[in-house]
Amino acid sequence: LSTVAESIHEPVKPSISISLTKLLIDGKFVDAASGKRFPTIDPRTEEVIAHVAEGDEEDVNRAVKAACKAFDKGPWPKMTAYERSKILIRFADLIDEHSDEIATLESLDSGKPYEQSRNIEVPMVARLFRYYAGWADKIHGLTVPADGAYSVQTLHEPIGVAGQIIPWNFPLLMFAWKVGPALACGNTIVLKTAEQTPLSALLAGKLLHDAGLPEGVLNIVSGFGPTAGAAIASHMDIDKLAFTGSTEVGKIVSRAAAESNLKPVTLELGGKSPFIITEDSDIDQAVELSHFALFFNQGQCCCAGSRTYVHESIYDEFLEKAKARALKRVVGDPFQNGVEQGPQISDEQFHKIMGYIKKGQEEGAKLVTGGERFGRKGYYIKPTIFADVQDEMTILKEEIFGPVQSITKYKTIPEVIQRANASPYGLAAGVFTKNIDTANTLSRALRVGTVWVNCFDVFDAAIPFGGYKMSGHGREKGVYSLNNYLQVKAVVTSIKDPAW
Ligand code: NAD
Repeated sequence: LSTVAESIHEPVKPSISISLTKLLIDGKFVDAASGKRFPTIDPRTEEVIAHVAEGDEEDVNRAVKAACKAFDKGPWPKMTAYERSKILIRFADLIDEHSDEIATLESLDSGKPYEQSRNIEVPMVARLFRYYAGWADKIHGLTVPADGAYSVQTLHEPIGVAGQIIPWNFPLLMFAWKVGPALACGNTIVLKTAEQTPLSALLAGKLLHDAGLPEGVLNIVSGFGPTAGAAIASHMDIDKLAFTGSTEVGKIVSRAAAESNLKPVTLELGGKSPFIITEDSDIDQAVELSHFALFFNQGQCCCAGSRTYVHESIYDEFLEKAKARALKRVVGDPFQNGVEQGPQISDEQFHKIMGYIKKGQEEGAKLVTGGERFGRKGYYIKPTIFADVQDEMTILKEEIFGPVQSITKYKTIPEVIQRANASPYGLAAGVFTKNIDTANTLSRALRVGTVWVNCFDVFDAAIPFGGYKMSGHGREKGVYSLNNYLQVKAVVTSIKDPAW
């Protein structure tokens, strides 16, 4: 076990054999049409974990063909909603049964602490599928009282083939957020995982078939964005697109969707979430929660509380304690017990974050702790804090996606509302206060999709999640997510003799 003050131990060798590395198309694991494979890297060691089939346009075409066939002619459209629901529940049970294996794969591929994968994320995935299983047979339309002699009803029907593109920061959870509602509503799917983290979704895909999912309903194409991802976004036979990732790529896929068949798009993009701590706060608790809000998952959360606004009356004490907490953060091999922070996902992200740290110093923010590589090998970065950060500085404006907390001082509530809202992003916000009136004011004034008051990163399956402004549109999870995967059909029937 290492704290930031110590050097890192040799990486632990998790006991797992990687058997699923091919594309999942039409219920079978197959090679890419091109025969190409790409390496997926262990971020702890910078070494290859496995070579995975590299899907491209031709494989996306094969997957879409299978998904269309499954939607039109397979057993899937004939199944009752209750039968669909039972498959999702069986899958959740299989997730529980295989949770050690899935969590190992997830941590190996992404570098996140095993305890986090095993005790938080994998159980959440099972919970999400049970939640959506519960919805499957409760989706129904309305009887509409229209003027005239008509009987009017609405049918809520699946859209068809859903294209889904997911990122690397929560590979399995993003799989669940996308696949759960799409299947509950009766759609078929072509999903592309992130090239950094292809492994856990392939195992989840196998388990879904073990649970009884008919072939062709879920197709998984591992591969890269500009090839496989672009082919999904622009495909003429994909009826809906769901994307999570950077705002930049969100624009690219939206354009591709519009220029192809105008498929509807839901986007969950970047963020720069404010975390506001008021003057009446218990400082120790505020330090702990704001630390969690930023550093959780190596700081690689779209909703990370990456702008810490502290009232001036408690600022100095807060800063001192925030530094002490960062220094105590346990960084090390994600497979060691007690480790809070593993490596960043990739060499590219490591250098991007180090670039932001350099920029913060150049622009005059005060580096309080961290700011450098941790250990000799792997993409580890010491928990980093900047203080006295000003609004115009890059590190307070752009998404860093790493373990870098930017702390800034404020005087009044109207001032902090104005500054918190002065961002192109609007994904989430944290409010830490004992004052119910301040909590109410801030919750309503902040232009974001989620406000966590005296808590952070609460991701219950039933709570909707999504962004205002350039953080995206549409909501995932909860009842709201079902709308993304349903069409509403109005059926209007003339009544021959309304008086009878
Ligand atoms: P990205 O947006 O490039 O990748 C997300 C997904 O989109 C991946 O599956 C990728 O293969 C795919 N993709 C990339 N280019 C594509 C294209 N032209 N067409 C279709 N699909 C494409 O994200 P990244 O490069 O992995 O990370 C860059 C930054 O994005 C991060 O630093 C972070 O700021 C942000 N990010 C946000 C989230 C989030 O949850 N909102 C997740 C990951 C990354």
